[in-house]
Amino acid sequence: MSQLFISYIALGSNLEDPIVHLNEALLEIKALPNTKITQASQFYRTKPIGPEQPDIINAVIKVETGLAPYDLLHALQKIELEHGRERIIRFGARTLDLDILLFNDVQMNDAELTIPHPRMQDRNFVLIPLKEIAPDLHLAPFGHIDDLITRNDPEDYVIPLDFEALGNKS
Ligand code: AMP
Repeated sequence: MSQLFISYIALGSNLEDPIVHLNEALLEIKALPNTKITQASQFYRTKPIGPEQPDIINAVIKVETGLAPYDLLHALQKIELEHGRERIIRFGARTLDLDILLFNDVQMNDAELTIPHPRMQDRNFVLIPLKEIAPDLHLAPFGHIDDLITRNDPEDYVIPLDFEALGNKS
């Protein structure tokens, strides 16, 4: 049997119908060879960074996969492209963004792939969904996920969609 790896992947969308894009992406990731989603956070509405644009819908999943890091990256990029993802403006609006946050204990940094994801420690729209499925995560060398979340800007709202559905829209 081939080796299986654990990876955490962040999903985001803020164009067209973001919830549809995220739901489809979940099905497409599930259909990758030798890959299954073992945990998924709920969907969150979050404040975009960068230029003026709609709020983003974000989620984080945990997968078990036989794909090696570059194969997983390329498979995710293919899914992004199939969703019409165009990279025009850095941090601009996107139909679908898929980032590898963690991959086993791999630490790597080259022109194509950096793991852990280089900005994840600064982004509560990543950390709060991640905490839902990995509450005890310690991200070397930055610290425990709770401390990272506390350190980041509280103005960067990250609101579970279920919470909004209960009438708490801000
Ligand atoms: P973005 O436009 O933010 O999705 O960035 C995409 C670029 O980041 C691609 O060229 C990837 O090769 C690169 N990249 C580096 N590390 C990662 C990672 N951990 N997950 C996804 N893309 C990555």
